Amino acid sequence: MENKLITVTSPLLPNLDEFNEMLKQIWESKWITNNGSFHRQLEKELTAYLRVPFISLFTNGTLPLITALQALRITGEVITTPYSFVATTHALWWNGIKPVFVDVDPATGNLDPDKIEAAITPRTTAIMPVHVYGNPCDTKRIQEIADKYGLKIIYDAAHAFGVEVNGESLLNAGDLSTLSFHATKVFNTIEGGALVMRDEQTKKRIDYLKNFGFINEVTVVGPGINSKMDEMRSAYGLLNLKQADAAIEARHQVAIKYREALRNVEGITFFDDMPGVKHNYSYFPIFIDTEKYGMTRDELYFKMKEQNVLGRRYFYPLISTFSTYRGLESAAPENLPNAHKMADQVICLPMHHALNEEDIKRILELIIE
Ligand SMILES: *Cc1c(COP(=O)(O)O)cnc(C)c1O
Repeated sequence: MENKLITVTSPLLPNLDEFNEMLKQIWESKWITNNGSFHRQLEKELTAYLRVPFISLFTNGTLPLITALQALRITGEVITTPYSFVATTHALWWNGIKPVFVDVDPATGNLDPDKIEAAITPRTTAIMPVHVYGNPCDTKRIQEIADKYGLKIIYDAAHAFGVEVNGESLLNAGDLSTLSFHATKVFNTIEGGALVMRDEQTKKRIDYLKNFGFINEVTVVGPGINSKMDEMRSAYGLLNLKQADAAIEARHQVAIKYREALRNVEGITFFDDMPGVKHNYSYFPIFIDTEKYGMTRDELYFKMKEQNVLGRRYFYPLISTFSTYRGLESAAPENLPNAHKMADQVICLPMHHALNEEDIKRILELIIE
C-alpha cells in the first residue's frame, strides 16, 4: 500500500459554513473590494492581534516590498541577504535598485550585522533584512548601523507573523515591515500580505500608493500600484485569525517532538527557541552534516520523497546564484560562505497545524533509521 502523502505545509482553512455566511453578507452589500467593511475590520483586528500601531493590507507579500521601497524613495544600492525567498531581491530589482548581498549568521540564518558596514558605499540608501524562519534579526545592531550611516530599514517579515521579542512585536523594528499571507504561511488569506508602519501619516501614504496614488476621485499624488485586498479574502482572513493562536500552538507541539527526537542524532542540527522570543514555528529547518550523518542532504531529501514525505530545500539555491543576480560582485560565493553552507545543508521538514502523531513518527523514522 502506498504511504499517505505528507506535504511540507498545509493551509489553515476557515470553517466553510462561517465563510459562506460572510460571503452572503458580501453578496448582499455588493461591496466586493476597495476598502470594504471586512477589509477595514481585518486591518483593525490584525493591528490588535499583532500589537502594531498601523497596518495596510495588500494582495500578496511581494507588492508590500515593492511599495515600501517606493514609499521611502529608496534608490541606488540596498544591503540584503541571499538566504531568503527570491521575492526579497526581486523587489529591489523591480525598483531599479542594486542588491548588495551580505553573508548570514549561521546561528539564526539572518544577515550578519558584523558584515554590514563593510558593504556600505556612498550609493547605499537602505538595508533590507529578512527574519528568516521567523528567527528575529539583531534589530538593535542593525538600527545602530542604519542610524550611523543614515540608512532606512525595511524588514521582510514574511515569516515573522506574531513573533515577539521581550513582549514587543518584532514587526515594530525598522522603518517598515512587510508580511505575506500566502497559503503556505502561518496565517493565510489565500494570497495576501501587509505593510506594518509606525505612524498614521505613513499609513495614509501607503494606502494611496496601493490604490494607484488616488487620494480622492480626481487627485493622484504619486505613481501608485494596485494592491488592494478584496472583501472575500478579508473575510477569509478574519475567520483564520480566530484560529491563528491554536494553529501556532499545534506547530509548537510538532517542533517539541522533532527536537526531542533529533537532539542526539549525529550530523543533524536545528534551531532552538531563543531566550525572550515568542516564536511562531513557521518552519522547521534541519541542517545535514554529510560526514557525520553519513548521507548527503539531497540523498535524505529524495529518500523522504520516495516514501511520500515532502520536505523542502528552503532556501536552496541561494538567490545570489540565480541568473539575474549571479553577475553581481557581492554574489561571489567567497563573499557568502555561511549562506552557501546553509543552502547546501538545509531541509525544511513538514510543519503545519494538522500533522498527527503518526505522520510525525513516520517522518522521524525516515531521518533517524
Ligand atoms: C512568501 C515570501 C514572500 C512573498 O510573499 P508572497 O505573498 O508569496 O508574494 C516574500 N519574502 C519571503 C521571505 C517569503 O517567504
